[in-house]
Amino acid sequence: MCSRKVVNIDGLKIGGNLPIRVESMLKAALSDLDSCILESEILYQNGCELIRVAFPDTSLSDNFEKLIKFSKLKIMADIHFDHNLAVAALELGCRAIRINPGNMSDSNGIKKIVDLAKRTDSVIRIGANGGSLNNKQILEAGNDRSLALFNAVEEQLELLLNENFDNIIISAKSSNVCETLRANALLSQKYTYPIHIGITEAGSGISGIVKSSIGIGIILSQGIGDTIRVSLTAPGVEEVKTAYHILRTLELRQRGYNLISCPTCGRKRVDVEKLTRMVKNLLPENLPDGLTIAVMGCEVNGPREASEADIGIAGTPYGFVMFKKGVRICSGKIDELPEKLKRIILEI
Ligand code: SF4
Repeated sequence: MCSRKVVNIDGLKIGGNLPIRVESMLKAALSDLDSCILESEILYQNGCELIRVAFPDTSLSDNFEKLIKFSKLKIMADIHFDHNLAVAALELGCRAIRINPGNMSDSNGIKKIVDLAKRTDSVIRIGANGGSLNNKQILEAGNDRSLALFNAVEEQLELLLNENFDNIIISAKSSNVCETLRANALLSQKYTYPIHIGITEAGSGISGIVKSSIGIGIILSQGIGDTIRVSLTAPGVEEVKTAYHILRTLELRQRGYNLISCPTCGRKRVDVEKLTRMVKNLLPENLPDGLTIAVMGCEVNGPREASEADIGIAGTPYGFVMFKKGVRICSGKIDELPEKLKRIILEI
C-alpha cells in the first residue's frame, strides 16, 4: 500500500500498490501433518494467502516438505535461534522465512541464510515484538517502547543489509495498540520495505477482535501496511475472516458479500436478528465480492438507511418489502421471502 518496494514469495507479491495480503499462522504442530494440511486448506478456502508455520526442529523436515508440496498457500517458516533451521527450510523449498537475525546463536549463520535466500530468490521477514524487548533496549530508547521496537527492527535490518540483502519484509508488533501504532509510523517514515502489521496476543472473543481491528485499522488507515495478521486465541479461520472484515470496512479489499443489518429500535416491525439469520442462510457463497445486502427493521427508515445496498429488505406490518439499489421491487409475507430473494439473487 505505502511501501515502495515489492517482494515476491513464490508468486505472491507483497507491497507497492498491491492489495493488502491476508496471513495467518498454523495452529497445528508440524508433527501432525494431516491437521496442518487440513488447516491450510480451510484457511485457503477462506481467502488466506500466506501462512506462517513453526519449524522448530529439523526432524520435522519430511513433514514440512510435504506441507510445502500439498498446501495451496504460500508458506513462511517461523524460525528461532538456530540458523540451521532457516537453511533447512530454504533447502526444502520454502520461499519465505521469518527470523530474528539478532538472536541467531551463530553470527556466521546469517551469511549462510542470506546466501541461500539470494540463490533461491526467497524473502526474509524480520521484526521485533514488544514481548521480546530487553531492558537494555528499553533503557537505550529512553523508556519509549515504540522507539525501542523501531531500534530493534533497525538492528536486525542492518545485519541483512550488511550482507547486501534487501528482499525483506519488516514488522514491529506489540500487544499494546498505541505502542504498535507509533513503531509502525516510525518504520514507514524511514523505510520502503513492505510492512507486516498486527497486534500480538490480542486475545480471544470480542475483546481480541476489537483490539486487532482498532490497531490494524488505524495503521492501515494511515496508509501503512502491506500484509496483515490478526492474532486471535481462536481457529485461524477466525483470524482470516476478521482480517477481511477490517479490509472491507476500510474499503481496501473486498471478499465475499457484505450483509448489514440495523441495530433495531422501537420502530421495528420484524425480529431483525431472526430475519438476518434467515437471509444469511439463503445467500450462496459465490455472490459477487462486495455485494451488499441490508436487513432493516422497518419500512419507515429502513429503505433510506439501506439505499446504498444492492438488495435491501425491510420489515413491514404485513411482512417485508424488498429494494434493489433503493428502488422497491416486491413485498410479501415473511414466509414468501425465501422464494423471492432466491429469484432476485439469480438475476444478479
Ligand atoms: S431501520 Fe427502522 S427499526 Fe431499524 S433502527 Fe432504523 S428506524 Fe429502527
